[in-house]
Amino acid sequence: MSLTRFHGSSSEMDNAYRDWRDANPYGYVFHQSKADSGMLHTCKCGHMDYKSNDAARMTKKPKICSTKRIEILGWLKDLKMDYSECSTCRP
Ligand SMILES: [Zn+2]
Repeated sequence: MSLTRFHGSSSEMDNAYRDWRDANPYGYVFHQSKADSGMLHTCKCGHMDYKSNDAARMTKKPKICSTKRIEILGWLKDLKMDYSECSTCRP
């Protein structure tokens, strides 16, 4: 298992998230928008893009990242997390 979770409100956390995406362009990102639900994206999805001029931190809502889609799906199942798949990037 190699899930990586990014959550915080610091620029350091945002940078760590950006670095992970840069290093894993074919990875997947689960954007946890609520305590028990969220949306799955690919790393390349524009929705998950880092915007340095964005006042809202990218990691304010948890981002769970993995290079393997099945690892994120397993994690979602374990936590009984509701999820949808992004219709833009079709992960
Ligand atoms: Zn997407």
